[in-house]
Amino acid sequence: MTTQYFWGMKICFQRGIHMSCGTEVRLHGISICPGIGIGHVHLVDHVIHLHKVRIEPSQVPEEQARYMRAVETMQNTLQDHVSLVHESSLLSTKAILDVHNAILADESLHNRVRSRIASQKKNAEWCLEEEGFRLFAEFDAMKNPYFRARGEDIRDMVNDILSILTSAQISESFEVAATESKKVLASRHLYPSSVIRAYRTHAAGFTSESDALTSHAAILLKGLGIPSVGGVHDLHASIFEGDEIIVDGINGCVIVRPCLETHVFYQEFTRDAEVFETIPLPEHCVTKDGTEISLKANIENPHQVSLMLSQGLEGIGLFRTEFLLYASGGVPNEEVQYQVYSDLVNKAHGRPVIIRTFDVGADKKILSQECTGDNPSLGVRGIRRHLLGQTEELRLQLRAIVRASAHGNVGVLIPMVTTIDDVLEVKRHFLSIQAELRKSGVAFSENVAFGAMIETPAAAVSLKDILQEVDFVSIGTNDLLQYFMAADRDNEQVIHYQNVKDPAFLWLMTFIIQQAKKVNRESDVTICGEIASQAEAIPLLLQIGYRSFSVSPVSASGFRKICSHIDLSSTNDAEDAGSINKTVCSSNTKKEKVT
Ligand code: PEP
Ligand code: MG
Repeated sequence: MTTQYFWGMKICFQRGIHMSCGTEVRLHGISICPGIGIGHVHLVDHVIHLHKVRIEPSQVPEEQARYMRAVETMQNTLQDHVSLVHESSLLSTKAILDVHNAILADESLHNRVRSRIASQKKNAEWCLEEEGFRLFAEFDAMKNPYFRARGEDIRDMVNDILSILTSAQISESFEVAATESKKVLASRHLYPSSVIRAYRTHAAGFTSESDALTSHAAILLKGLGIPSVGGVHDLHASIFEGDEIIVDGINGCVIVRPCLETHVFYQEFTRDAEVFETIPLPEHCVTKDGTEISLKANIENPHQVSLMLSQGLEGIGLFRTEFLLYASGGVPNEEVQYQVYSDLVNKAHGRPVIIRTFDVGADKKILSQECTGDNPSLGVRGIRRHLLGQTEELRLQLRAIVRASAHGNVGVLIPMVTTIDDVLEVKRHFLSIQAELRKSGVAFSENVAFGAMIETPAAAVSLKDILQEVDFVSIGTNDLLQYFMAADRDNEQVIHYQNVKDPAFLWLMTFIIQQAKKVNRESDVTICGEIASQAEAIPLLLQIGYRSFSVSPVSASGFRKICSHIDLSSTNDAEDAGSINKTVCSSNTKKEKVT
């Protein structure tokens, strides 16, 4: 049995593919966008019936021209296609559009199609299909998940051009009215065009066999907030058009033909979540005894700044910047980054914005050719990648972040710090960039906070030394648990080790806050890992002394509610990690002695 939390509420469910009641089937995948979607399956892989014919030599020029007209039509509709769904998402929309335009503008594909028409005397759709297969196979064979994911974009483009060539109507019931029964779109592939259909039809959810989690379709799903699960390998073997289906984007699974019990459970869960969302937000986050708790937001793209504001959060405690790399496939230049960061800082209206430098590698496989090795989690990731050769990329990002401070309250956060030397080396870059900007008269604030993530046991043990060099630390417990328990955060088989109540881990968390207290710096310590969204973990973390958290905005109201029930007035300010550990974990973690 596993237990997960969302909006502070608990969902318990069995692992395993098939569940007992009736014809219910539970399939595991990977969450793309959190949330629950309940509806009826709508299969979106439209079958295009190609009319494959041989042509006369005299027809070649017209056939080539027909192909190019289809490409042109596609180019003309592309702009509407993407801007329809993402008017406000500036950079990622633009980047997706640019990639699709680049695919369409790539003459090598068109040349190959045209020469196939001429040499093989086949009609345009036949030649495009053959060239498409050749190209897909090349992308499918790529090891790098980023490039494999781009294959989905190409497949999508090719299908769209084939639809234009065959005058196939983009299927039927896509334009269902919002009032009709909700659909969950199911697809073999992750295509941006399918996501656009999901958006247009107000789909309740989206699920796919594809595990191209860095695909543009996945980025769009996240941006649009459509509950979605990818990598569901047995999906098409288990569903029929019209089946009832639940997309559980919180736990990364889909439930096909749910039994009544499951259906009621999920319905109640979503209803509770909605009610919960309507409870007016308190101005501050306080415990029952009036202890003030600082609560900020973790965000993954600039649009989520509105969630930070609507949830009344104090600022952005963690801005993950990797979306910039997902969206464009490369490192955006300083100006582009500066625009994104300063736009975000402006929208935060003076609230602090803590921007983390690119944390590439391990679970964030973006430019993974640079982060390979037999054990990528222990290899060149996060700040290691920057310090081991990508210093120009680091300096460029730091420059853009520091410049954005001219617009408000900015902090910079360094991921995957291991030693004090890591901190010192980045700090040298940080200070020299400020000196350069000062010398050239470029505007920036002298108060940019410099912070380190505490994600490795070594950094946790070096906390007092690290605190001497930084303005704040943020504890990334997703990674800290992974490295402390030596258990991959994404490996289901060892996920039970990611247990915040484990006495050894609680000892470590206690040790960290105690070290900070010893140098009067406890107010400079924030927890930004997912444990701060777990209902069971929040009381423990408060009791051992944590007072500052950064959580996903969807978890904010649940977090506040839990805090409001906790009385810290009788909590002893224990002297050391051992004694606090005994107090806090005794009831939670005692194991029966085996005799
Ligand atoms: C963490 O490791 O806890 C964290 C917040 O960073 P990420 O999940 O992005 O690795
Ligand atoms: Mg991390």
